[in-house]
Amino acid sequence: MRNLALHWKIIIGMVLGVAFGAVAAWAGWNDFVRDWIKPFGNVFLNLLKLIAVPLIIGSLIKGVTDLKDISKLSSMGARTLGIYIATTAIAVSIGLIAVNITQPGHFVSKETQERLNSTYASAATAKISDAEKEKSKSPLQPLVDMVPENVFGAASSNGNMLQVIFFVIFFGIGLILIPEESARPVVAFFSGLNDVVMKMVDLIMLAAPFGVFALLAALIVESPTPDIFVALLGYMGTVVAGLVFMVLVFYPTLVRIFAKKSPGFFLKGFAPAQLLAFSTSSSAATLPVSMERVKEHLGVHEDVASFVMPIGATVNMDGTALYQAVAAVFIAQAYGMDLSLGAQLGIILTATLASIGSAAVPGAGMVMLVIVLSQAGIPEAGLALILAVDRPLDMCRTVANVTSDATASMIVASSLGKLGEPKPENWGDSYRAGEV
Ligand code: ASP
Repeated sequence: MRNLALHWKIIIGMVLGVAFGAVAAWAGWNDFVRDWIKPFGNVFLNLLKLIAVPLIIGSLIKGVTDLKDISKLSSMGARTLGIYIATTAIAVSIGLIAVNITQPGHFVSKETQERLNSTYASAATAKISDAEKEKSKSPLQPLVDMVPENVFGAASSNGNMLQVIFFVIFFGIGLILIPEESARPVVAFFSGLNDVVMKMVDLIMLAAPFGVFALLAALIVESPTPDIFVALLGYMGTVVAGLVFMVLVFYPTLVRIFAKKSPGFFLKGFAPAQLLAFSTSSSAATLPVSMERVKEHLGVHEDVASFVMPIGATVNMDGTALYQAVAAVFIAQAYGMDLSLGAQLGIILTATLASIGSAAVPGAGMVMLVIVLSQAGIPEAGLALILAVDRPLDMCRTVANVTSDATASMIVASSLGKLGEPKPENWGDSYRAGEV
């Protein structure tokens, strides 16, 4: 049991949570579960929310300062960023289209919706009155709202995350522009902060099997109908279908068009990195293998790979962005909220930014989902709905995240004439699995 991989422990937590919830509902232990089990689930949720602000600060400042080579490699930097942002925005759009077609949240019956709404009534009322206020504002108000007048004020609420992101990117740009000597200690501090926060995410994830158990048991006890599970299956199916499309169709097509390599060559050469991403749920842990695969097996020159891949592992998370879009709309649907086109376009922006700010470690994408939810006015408590099924989706979205980095490295390399032939002489691979 001790050596069991985390994802197995979480799956066991899920199964036991469902089983316990079912027994509790049958035996009438509802109050016991509500009073003594559910609070542990809420503690776990709070831990995830607690880490959101430091997570953005650490990971984004590191991501931006890693770009300092832009001065030397400006054309490579611009191309890389362009591809990263474009593919991420496309991924979010694919997610939005998929979830609007399948509408998994509508499987939740009116009865369950009302129960969800009454449980979180006060939060919902506050959001609704916020939404009313929004309507009377000028069209440029979102721009004004993005620029905080006080950084500590902005960092004091998870709902202001866009302001924090604005400040952090601005700060990172300032940091790149000052002389290296003065920047060094600041960069070292934030790089250390980033490591600490990543470790905290690791530690929180250790509690995930228990958190998931508590949340699922409470969900079952409080759910009057099984429709929530049908809805969850629909939600998972939508995320997975979107990711499968990205990995098997979208990226190979980009590689075919822009790098003139066949899908078979690309997928076969990169598959071991994808499997590692699947089993570690961490782009960072997969980085050594994904770098090696693109260099040795896909023919990307060393200087391109060592620039594009580490930045990609930190900031380019198409799978995460797609998942955040689907999850946000699903939660809104489950709460009976119909999101306007404007709100959905807003999700494209926030999910793209939130995925950039997500650390390359297990579970980070779900933490950043809080931002997408709060910016779109969707009850954050809805996280409880999807948390239990998050890990398998994390495994799948990490595969898309690393595949996207590899795609970008091939396109950038090809556009700079730096895409050569694979190097079979180096194929005595020794894979080092990341320590997660
Ligand atoms: N686990 C993902 C990654 O490392 C991030 C996420 O949670 O979506 O790429």
